[in-house]
Amino acid sequence: MPVLPQKEFLYLQIVLMFFWCLISIKAWNPSTNPLADRQYRTYRNGIIDPRARWTRFFIFVDPEFNNTERMIIRGVASELQEILPCVKFWMWPKGRSPSDFRESYIHVTKSKNGCASEVGRMLNGSQKLELDPKCTDSNTILHEMIHALGLHHEQAQPDRDKYVKILWQNIKKGKENNFRKYDPKEVSSFGVPYNPKSIMQYSSKAFSANGEPTMVTTDGKIITKPTELQWTDIEKLKRMYNC
Ligand SMILES: [Zn+2]
Repeated sequence: MPVLPQKEFLYLQIVLMFFWCLISIKAWNPSTNPLADRQYRTYRNGIIDPRARWTRFFIFVDPEFNNTERMIIRGVASELQEILPCVKFWMWPKGRSPSDFRESYIHVTKSKNGCASEVGRMLNGSQKLELDPKCTDSNTILHEMIHALGLHHEQAQPDRDKYVKILWQNIKKGKENNFRKYDPKEVSSFGVPYNPKSIMQYSSKAFSANGEPTMVTTDGKIITKPTELQWTDIEKLKRMYNC
């Protein structure tokens, strides 16, 4: 086998190192790699991924919300601010809008069909948090904002089958995806125990096709609609954000 002289071998190493760096930078930086960006958005639930976390959580409430609704949203933001002092929660004052704003921010909008939020921080610009008239209570807004901060539903945890049983036969056709559990590489419970009373937990009748439960605890108990933030939700947020 031919052996390269030491000098040539060094040059070859430098050239290989250069290409390796180039490839790594391309793969890491989503803004220069459309594929990486798309994958990141598709698998946005990666709360393990530090890019999905916020340092400044900007909230723009659409002008179509009235003063009472704005006040509820502001109250939820203050509650989260107390839990996560290392994140700056900030709401645009009424009458001001984020035109030309370059950082990621939450745009709270009205919808006609349910409430929804992306999970975790997206990359640059606005991301919607939709609320229909039935979801303007503080618990639901809290649930959606916690999604935006990076937490999935409680039953999305990889180890959920130890705590809840999914009754697939009762789920509305096409809604099964809402009951998927995630890969441990994507999400983590950060060592906090499963809590069926979590504000992020579906109740037993969620997405039921026939009025029968779609999910019960493993010992067969009905799960009721969450009524308040649990210590496990708070602890998980704190551990996820390390604050
Ligand atoms: Zn949800």
